[in-house]
Amino acid sequence: KITELFKEFDKSKVYMVDLESGLHYLLRVELATRKTLEGAELKTFKDFVTVVSKLFPGRQSVVKLLETLLEWLISLPLEKIPYEAILDLANNKMRISGLHLSERVQWIGCQGSSVALRGYPCSLWTLFHVLTVQAASRPDALANTALEDDPLAVLQTMRQYIGTFFGCHECGKHFEEMAQESMSQVKSLDEAVLWLWRKHNQVNARLAGTLSEDPMFPKTQWPTPDLCQACHEEQDGLHVWIEDMVLAFLKKHYSAANISPKYTT
Ligand code: FAD
Repeated sequence: KITELFKEFDKSKVYMVDLESGLHYLLRVELATRKTLEGAELKTFKDFVTVVSKLFPGRQSVVKLLETLLEWLISLPLEKIPYEAILDLANNKMRISGLHLSERVQWIGCQGSSVALRGYPCSLWTLFHVLTVQAASRPDALANTALEDDPLAVLQTMRQYIGTFFGCHECGKHFEEMAQESMSQVKSLDEAVLWLWRKHNQVNARLAGTLSEDPMFPKTQWPTPDLCQACHEEQDGLHVWIEDMVLAFLKKHYSAANISPKYTT
């Protein structure tokens, strides 16, 4: 039975191992398609590293790696950076103590019923939600960076990352269309959390029943009532979201306190 191969997990939790596996994949696999980074690509990567190094509520060894990467990117006067140099840093070739990002890929909350399903794209969404929630919970975290005081800092950075580097080009195109349509209406850090939630549900609705859907993990309008009953109401026979409740739920679900360290090594 397929289910016996599954690692036990709790869908009301977020798993650090998914986030770390996602960062590993991003830095060592996705970015490896580039020989060098320069111009707009380099700026996109620097903004991404700024956002994750300041907002990722991760283990000390991973945060330290991201901070070191950021310091290095900022201090380099180069207009062009070879990918090999980024990889050396991700692999801690300089042997700086207390700095590490595992090379092991293990999906738990993001595990799929086949290798082609879920995994990295699931972890990228998860990271994206965690970052918007962290930005809303710690509004000063991006102080003294180029992204300070911008309610769109995380959304714009991820939009650029997805449009530039995300291996699924069709996804990038769809996401850009959604961003152009309504991202500029976001005026606060809380609205950014809700915007991302709404757009993710729009993607879920579009993909329901397609080949992207893992039959073991059907696309739903999330959070389902078993996760957040108070998020749902019926008014005049129609389903409505209670957005205040959704926001409170997202801030709890994607908070540092709800990230489980289970399965990390
Ligand atoms: P995912 O959709 O990856 O979600 C991961 C987890 O997030 C879920 O398990 C759930 O716990 C939680 N979640 C679900 N919905 C929400 C929500 N509304 N708010 C907050 N949390 C939620 N694939 C395509 O085939 N075509 C596309 O155009 C496409 N566009 C994409 C755009 C982006 C930016 C990304 C990151 C991925 C895109 N993908 C696309 C991939 C696709 O959305 C899924 O990531 C993939 O199919 C794996 O689905 P999943 O079941 O693991 O759940």
